[in-house]
This record gives sequence, structure tokens and C-alpha cells, in this order.
Amino acid sequence: MKLTELEQKIADNIAARAEALLDDLRLHVNTPTGKGHKPGLDETRERFTARLAALGATVELFPGERKPDWLIGGSPDTEPPPTAVCRRTREGLPRIMIAGHLDTVHDPESNFRELTIGPDGKTATGPGCVDMKGGLVIAVAALEALEDAGADTSWTFFFNSDEETGSYHSRTVMEDESRAHDLGLALEPALPGGELAIERMGAGQFMIECRGRSAHVGRAFTDGVSAVNKLAECLVEIAKMPDPDKGRILNVGPLQGGSVVNAVPDLARAWGNVRYPTPEVGEEIGKMLDALATATDAVPSVAVLRSFNRPAKPMLTETEALGLRAREVAEALGQKLPFAKTGGVCDGNIMQNVGLPTIDTLGVRGGGLHTPDEWIDLSSLVERCQLLAILIHRLCSA
Ligand SMILES: [Zn+2]
Repeated sequence: MKLTELEQKIADNIAARAEALLDDLRLHVNTPTGKGHKPGLDETRERFTARLAALGATVELFPGERKPDWLIGGSPDTEPPPTAVCRRTREGLPRIMIAGHLDTVHDPESNFRELTIGPDGKTATGPGCVDMKGGLVIAVAALEALEDAGADTSWTFFFNSDEETGSYHSRTVMEDESRAHDLGLALEPALPGGELAIERMGAGQFMIECRGRSAHVGRAFTDGVSAVNKLAECLVEIAKMPDPDKGRILNVGPLQGGSVVNAVPDLARAWGNVRYPTPEVGEEIGKMLDALATATDAVPSVAVLRSFNRPAKPMLTETEALGLRAREVAEALGQKLPFAKTGGVCDGNIMQNVGLPTIDTLGVRGGGLHTPDEWIDLSSLVERCQLLAILIHRLCSA
């Protein structure tokens, strides 16, 4: 379907914002939000929510929940960051949930701190430029352009601050909001060729904790029960579990065990990560790991703690239909939107798992995610903003 007159007006309005989009990207990339950096997260959240409030949205802040203590990087001493939900819903229109994360993986103290335009002027590098400050910048601009053009839309904009660390602080509110909406749009960067990720694997974390009995190696070796030896046995079993052809993936590391060389260690731990293409394979991995556990009073004992926090995101008919609508818009704009699968995970996994059909790579194009070479294709600011705006317009006009 070709662009209507109103859609052309929206697209033109966005094209005229090219410079403003770049300025806004610079502002947000230069405000650090990695490693839980509170001042940057607060500032960024306030900037975006104020612009949405100016469009008539109500802004609600939900306090963050705590993360399980046993996770690597778990239980930080600092207050978990809040989640912001900005609602501007209209009776009779579909309930669209737009989701984006304010955090990046980048250390605010590192040398990679600013948006730097490349020599050809076509690309730029900067922390979070593509994952996902670019996505947030275009989404807020898309809603403003729709308003400017007089298009009536209905949406909820969800901002969390912990996607890169597993969305533990924002999970409950994300699930509640997902259940209360009809369609989900998430702003993760497009795949390298501009593709829309239509299928994602699930992911999770686990910890194996072995406890034994401590004893002096020289005086009472036979009284000791080594937790390290028990952990080693478990790790041999875990090494037999992966079946990559089935998409059953388990990786172990880091490890921890004992504290001195002259005592039989009474505590040893291993952390690990799993990936699975379907909920069934996820369950299968969970059962295999759980089978390693012993009674708590056994000596040695084995405890299995796990958090499979990113459910698999298989392609559903509703998700495909939403992807096809996005592709129609892309084609009307003279763009292409192929579909692809990915092993990467994002909040789209959680949203769709509770029943919200979600397409989740509607952000900008670029690459080098999570590295000091993270880059953005600058032409994608306008292109993807147009795509998102007209998609939202069409979803609200159906
Ligand atoms: Zn991301």
C-alpha cells in the first residue's frame, strides 16, 4: 500500500527533523547510562518522559525490584532504578506498548564517552548510539511527528533501566503492562542488514553450589569432604548436556572454590549461562540441571539455583502478522525489511511470553553492540523514525 497524503506529511515532517534527531542522539549518547549510573539514568528518563508528558501522556514511576543475590553482579548495594510508564491511550484504538531501555553496557568512566561522527559523515560511534539510544530518540520523535501531523494515536511508552543486566528490576511491571496491551514494539537495533528479528532464543543463568566439610590437609585430611571435587563431578555432567543441533546450549564459568591450599574446601560454586530455542528445550535444560541437586543435609551437598529470565521467543502467527505490516510500511517508504532469527535476547522475549505479540528490532541500524566500536548508520535515524511513525499510525487507523 502506497503512502497516503497524511502519511507523506508524517514522513516529510520527520525528514525535516534530520538535524534535530542527530542533536538529540548526541545529547543522549553523551549522557552516560551504563553500569547503573544513576545521575545519567535519571536525567535521560526525565528528558524523555517530559517530552511525552508534553504530548499529553501521564507519567508513572514504579520502584525497582531487587535482583536474586546469587547472580553474578546481583544484589547491588544501590537502590534499584525505577521503571517509567508513560500512557497516552485513546478509547477504541489498539493498545500499543512501545518498550525501550535507558541503560547501556558501557562504563561511564571509560574513554568511550561521546558521539563521534566518522570521516565520511555517514556513520558515528558512541556508547549506546545503536543499543539503544538511537531507538529511543527516533521513537519519541516519531510520536511528536505524528502529533504535529494531526494523526490520532494511542500508546504506552515503557522505559526500564536494567535491560542489559536481565531486567530483574523491571520484570513485574513489564509483565503487567504487556498483559494489558494488544501489540508490542521494542526499540532494539535492527540486525546488521536492517532485518527484523522475528524469532529469538531464550536465555537463563544458573549457579551450582556445592558444600562439603572443611578439614586441615595435614592433620585431618580424611575428615574432610571436598566441595571442589563434588563441583568437578557436577561440571563433568554439565559438559555432557549441550546439544547445539537441538539448540540446547549450556556454558559454565566463572568458577569459585576453596580459599587456601592447606584446607579441604567446604564451598565451591560455578555460574553458567543457557540458551534454548523453545520453552520445551528450556524446561528440558532446567530438569537436567535440577537432577544434580542433592538433599540439603547431604555431605557433600549440591544446590542448583537458576533463573531462566528470558523465555524463548518463537515466531507466532500474530507476531508474523505484525512484522508483515511493518514490512508493508517499509516498502511504501522504499525500504526493505527482511526477517531473521537471532540467538540474542531482549525484553521482547519477556513481553511476548506473557501473550503480547511483539516485534523488537525497530530501532536504528548499526553494529559493534556492547563494544567500544559501537556504531550507527546515521541515515537510519530518519528512515527508521519514518517506519516507526507510519507503522504506529497504521496500527491506530485499522
Ligand atoms: Zn538493547
